[in-house]
Amino acid sequence: MFAAWAVDDLYYLADIDLTYFTGGWRTTGFHPNVIDLTHTRWATGSAMTALDLVAAAIGALHMSPKANGEAYDLGSFGKGDKPPCPGCTAWIASVRSEFGWLTEIRNSLVHQTVNRGLFGGTDDPDDIRPNRTEILLPNGSKNPVRKVIENCRALAYRHVSGFFQAVIDGTA
Ligand SMILES: [Zn+2]
Repeated sequence: MFAAWAVDDLYYLADIDLTYFTGGWRTTGFHPNVIDLTHTRWATGSAMTALDLVAAAIGALHMSPKANGEAYDLGSFGKGDKPPCPGCTAWIASVRSEFGWLTEIRNSLVHQTVNRGLFGGTDDPDDIRPNRTEILLPNGSKNPVRKVIENCRALAYRHVSGFFQAVIDGTA
């Protein structure tokens, strides 16, 4: 249930992100670069949280409690722990094959590898979307923040609803 809220959180973020960059910025005191980095942290953090909450649910369903009382997360299942059912095993494999870029973007925020937007020079003086910050990854790819937010939302939605569907279908 909390995983679904983390997905809603990303829909909310995408809405207010759009509002800010299409004129809302005029009524706040915050610089667009600050908003870009904050929203990137929010998007990547919420997407990771949504996936970790599903992993915790899988752990609670199938695995013996951890000695230290901690919940399972995606990292737990990388260290040799395998859920016993095909639905959950497939879910973990699918998420792990896809979330590499999410980890890379989170790491890049720590290491400050961003290409800051240059604000100004758009046709519509209220709409500053074309000038947003890009997150640079070690492989050279440039990831505009709006795209990062939308990708985080899509990733979280797809995998949280995928897990719920597996529960409904009885394969989890
Ligand atoms: Zn299962």
